[in-house]
Amino acid sequence: MAYYPTRRVTVIARDPSVQVRGALLRSSVEIPNEELQAGPRGYRVHVVDYDSSTGTLYRTLTKPANRTDGPPHDTFEKASDDELLESADFHAMNAYAIVMRTLARFESALGRRVAWSFPGHQVKVAPHAMASANAFYSPDDEALLFGYFRRPCDGRPVYSCLAHDIIAHETTHALLDGLRERYTDPSSPEQAGFHEGFADIVALLSLFALREVVERVLDPAGDGDRLSAALVETDALKKSILLGLGHEFGQELSGVRGNALRRSVTLRPEQARACDDEPHHRGEVLAAAVMDAFLNVWMGRLLPYIHEGSLDRCRAVEEGAAAADRLLTICIRALDYCPPTDLRFGDFASAMLTADWQMYPRDMKYRFRDALRCSLGRFGISAASAGREEPGTWDPPEEEPAYDRTHFEEMQRNPDELFRFIWENRRVFRLHENAYTRVLSVRPSVRTGSDGFALRETVVEYLQLIRLRASELRSLWLSRPRGMAGAQEITLYGGNAMIFDQFGRVKYNIGNSLFNRARQQARLNYLWETGFFEAASTPANRFASIHQRRMAEFR
Ligand SMILES: [Zn+2]
Repeated sequence: MAYYPTRRVTVIARDPSVQVRGALLRSSVEIPNEELQAGPRGYRVHVVDYDSSTGTLYRTLTKPANRTDGPPHDTFEKASDDELLESADFHAMNAYAIVMRTLARFESALGRRVAWSFPGHQVKVAPHAMASANAFYSPDDEALLFGYFRRPCDGRPVYSCLAHDIIAHETTHALLDGLRERYTDPSSPEQAGFHEGFADIVALLSLFALREVVERVLDPAGDGDRLSAALVETDALKKSILLGLGHEFGQELSGVRGNALRRSVTLRPEQARACDDEPHHRGEVLAAAVMDAFLNVWMGRLLPYIHEGSLDRCRAVEEGAAAADRLLTICIRALDYCPPTDLRFGDFASAMLTADWQMYPRDMKYRFRDALRCSLGRFGISAASAGREEPGTWDPPEEEPAYDRTHFEEMQRNPDELFRFIWENRRVFRLHENAYTRVLSVRPSVRTGSDGFALRETVVEYLQLIRLRASELRSLWLSRPRGMAGAQEITLYGGNAMIFDQFGRVKYNIGNSLFNRARQQARLNYLWETGFFEAASTPANRFASIHQRRMAEFR
């Protein structure tokens, strides 16, 4: 039997509220091909149509027929809009396809397989999980749960499993949690906001690869080969359907037609600079800054093609798709260059700049690094590193570690060998010798660029953790927050992401030291001031509670 690596599946490209010329905006997306079981159940995604509100396990999509003469048929290619909206089978397939597409996008950017945060290989996806205007990733259930609700006006159901943005956003939470397990720890407003801002960035940028959708949304009425330049101006785009998230949920919950759940791109730099510590607001600042860079690069690419107020339609869409693809790759790859604990936006800025610089040291076409430095700066985000070789990028370690007692081959896969390397070099890497130290992951990766250039790197994360009483903080030159009892137990975190080149040499050692007094004190003060130590109980599911608030929140 011939092997077909990919297949095409029909999905709803935004959500059912977004229609062009009275029709659903649909797209055929390319995802990894596999022999699916009923559900569908594949090697990484298992759709379980269970509704916890009614206690009903619905009939699952029957096992799709396999073919030997080509990739599987796209079952819903010819289905009417009504059939898509009403078919539970389509709902299951839509959710499956978008989760798989998001996973595949992460794997292609990182150049390796990506695991979920939990021990299992298959994430469960419940397309009609609960009668609630909510959707969330539940690590405890190893699941992505999509809710639904009925519109007050006519009782028609609104399904989050039909919203491309919401599925991509929730899948990103699950993938990010697998890549950086400590980012949900209480730490700072920026670390708390990062999950949300990053998930929104992925949801927004991944839409631009669907070229026919972008074309129809940009100019719903047009059909010639030229496009009015007014349609691709920054302000017009910021208000367009392309750059809002959760249109149907936003519209139905607010009662205002066209009201997206979130539209971070309209956040002005002066608002961002005055942003409070509320984590979701902080997340929007990051999304606004990154999307601002995207729009600037896209608009810059289009300028030479504008003649007498119009430009080639295909060119406009193609440039948007290419710029979004590049920026999405930068953002996902940047995760590898971020410290494993206590992430700040400035760290992510340096990580993005480093990720791009590693791949495209002489980029004259997009100049994304210039665009990012400019947009991030306007939104009050400065790179954590000054960058000796390239502004804003991480610097190589100042002191050379010793390699003579460890084995290169083993270091590419074995956490114990890595631990030995780190431990033997504990003075060079400024480890706290009495802290609990653990290698969290060892991930060999092959990144490929648009020109076919391959960059081989091994990404290692290690964690340092120390528990002490507030009265012992002085041993680390830290002071006890005012009012904190001396007997208060405290956990401090350090740890690094270490990047090895193809020869097994350390290129970067990016992280937070337990000895970083300013950083540790800032975290401690923030946790104390926000009542972390007083909270007797934490929400059962951090993602559920976050999204319950988000779905009801409009700005
Ligand atoms: Zn979220």
